[in-house]
Amino acid sequence: MENRPPRLRRKRVEFDQVYIAPTPYGQGVFAAKSLKALSPVGRVNGKVKPPGYRSDYCMSFQDGGLEPEPPYSLVNHSCDPNCELIEWEITNEDTGEKVYELWIHTIREIAKDEQLTIDYAWDWKAAIPCLCGSPKCRGWICSLAELETCIEQRGRGSLENPERVL
Ligand SMILES: [Zn+2]
Repeated sequence: MENRPPRLRRKRVEFDQVYIAPTPYGQGVFAAKSLKALSPVGRVNGKVKPPGYRSDYCMSFQDGGLEPEPPYSLVNHSCDPNCELIEWEITNEDTGEKVYELWIHTIREIAKDEQLTIDYAWDWKAAIPCLCGSPKCRGWICSLAELETCIEQRGRGSLENPERVL
């Protein structure tokens, strides 16, 4: 099973069953009600940026990026995330119009008041030590594909000396 595009009609269905609340490291996005596995949570709104654009929170979108707006700009990283970002080409069922949109979807069931997380999958040069606290924590906010390089070049991140970092 995998995520499928949200249905789009002239009148948009309201998703965004989330709220923003403080976390030990800033702010995060939490489920306002329990969310089913493999379901759309909401559309990520923001400014589309050209290829080569970089910022801390820019998300990959089309051939450039999307500088996201709250709430989804505040979704934190986890090495064992419960959500994922997916870029869809969606056809509006009423108008036939095609649009490209970035959506956040659940990967598994999420309980009410659980924090939503995604895998930032940064490249190793941009990686920072990860404090997600998951048993699967990689030690770095780094893509799995580049983790080996990151550890070779930069050590084990937050797993190096967990007592000191946490
Ligand atoms: Zn982690």
